Amino acid sequence: MSTFYRELSIQTQGGGDVIDLSDALMQLVKESGIRNGQALCFVRHSTAALTTLEHEPGLLADMKAVFERLAPAGAEYEHHKRWGDHNGHSHVLAAIFGPSVGIPIVDGRLMIGTWQRPVLLDFDVAPRQRSVSVQIVGE
Ligand code: ZN
Repeated sequence: MSTFYRELSIQTQGGGDVIDLSDALMQLVKESGIRNGQALCFVRHSTAALTTLEHEPGLLADMKAVFERLAPAGAEYEHHKRWGDHNGHSHVLAAIFGPSVGIPIVDGRLMIGTWQRPVLLDFDVAPRQRSVSVQIVGE
């Protein structure tokens, strides 16, 4: 069994930005040489999250509407009073969606569905440079 580690550095626009990580992850699987195992992806920020979804404009608009319903940007957050950074909703959404996604690798391929894409969600209020840790374990 071997392990392979890389960090993806990703520029986002914030505000519920959804970035498709499929191509970058497939490239890392290839680079790792690991044919069977799993890829654990973890975003190292408290206002961003990872999940999977169908990356098409209709759903992306739906997701933005759901983000706003779940944790409205204009609502009152205790976090604002303590820190004054006005991203309480960003932290709440990041916690709900969670920081990680694990994907099986079989015969050198990520075992994602036909329309399923691993994505980075950035909920913060301004553009950011994000780091996603990717650890691939297998043989
Ligand atoms: Zn904050």
